[in-house]
Amino acid sequence: MTRPIYERLAVVGCGLIGSSVIRAAREAGVVSQIIVADASEAHRARITELGLADKVTGDIAEAVAEADLVIFAVPVQAMGDAAQAAAATIRPGTTVSDVGSVKGSVAEALRAALPESVFIIPGHPIAGTEYSGPDAGFAELFRDRWVILTPQARDDGPYLEAVTRLSDFWRRLGANVERMDEKHHDLVLAVTSHLPHLIAYNIVGTAADMEEVTRSEVMKYSAGGFRDFTRIAASDPTMWRDVFLGNKDAVLEVLGRFTEDLQALSRAIRWGEGDKLFDLFSRTREIRRGIIAAGQESNEPNFGRDRGKH
Ligand code: NAP
Repeated sequence: MTRPIYERLAVVGCGLIGSSVIRAAREAGVVSQIIVADASEAHRARITELGLADKVTGDIAEAVAEADLVIFAVPVQAMGDAAQAAAATIRPGTTVSDVGSVKGSVAEALRAALPESVFIIPGHPIAGTEYSGPDAGFAELFRDRWVILTPQARDDGPYLEAVTRLSDFWRRLGANVERMDEKHHDLVLAVTSHLPHLIAYNIVGTAADMEEVTRSEVMKYSAGGFRDFTRIAASDPTMWRDVFLGNKDAVLEVLGRFTEDLQALSRAIRWGEGDKLFDLFSRTREIRRGIIAAGQESNEPNFGRDRGKH
């Protein structure tokens, strides 16, 4: 029988990611008890109905009081207030983490709000879908996906032990764990996730605003590439507003580079420089092949590999 890693897990914000953590943690037997705090009354009712937690409350202070692991899974800009609400009751020695898509500003907000006696280890599972809320979550979401932890530069034993324990927790949920500096995380994710979302939001917005092409034509002929952008552009507006506000510097830096490269492409098209276009499109094809080789090509949960084991 597998032993739990934590006695009591408190998840603050039980939407897609929070409820997936809970489902996966329960399935893996890594926690004995689960407490949820969520601001939404409708979500609380649904979480109770689904039997996801041992206790469901709207009061963050109450939820974290007995926990030895607290995971904040609210939108990035709500992390600071949620942590402040937890500060008065959280116990010394509690491990505090989060799942926010931005790390620098979230880590700062957690450190500013919480007492020094807790172990703050920010985290980000690189896994998700375009859906939100407690019904959207599933236990397999993190299987074979990366979870990036951005621990503080501390070398005291208890903190390092807390980092090891949290890494074990994620591994038992099926994830691969990597440690990274929070600034570097924000730059990497600006390239791999935040900019692609910005481009998708923009391209779908542009198509919707074009007067010469009707909306029904856009939908009818969407298989020409547009359809893939619409999936990304259907992602939660609150979450993504917060990501761009929370990772402003890195996104603007990457956007600057992107704009320059786009100018170069438009120049190549204007001057008929086919070789330049062909070279770029060949290089990008290699990146796609690398993603497939790394097993990260699909958003679908990785049920397949497990099935193959039986
Ligand atoms: P979600 O499905 O909308 O869930 C967030 C939940 O938190 C909702 O139930 C929300 O209620 C609740 N909430 C909001 N503010 C709160 C507060 N101050 N106190 C307590 N509960 C609060 O969002 P999600 O997709 O799970 O995202 C959660 C976090 O995971 C975000 O930080 C996001 O950046 C990160 N993340 C998301 C993905 C993804 O693909 N979605 C992937 C990796 C990481 P209301 O709906 O009533 O606001």
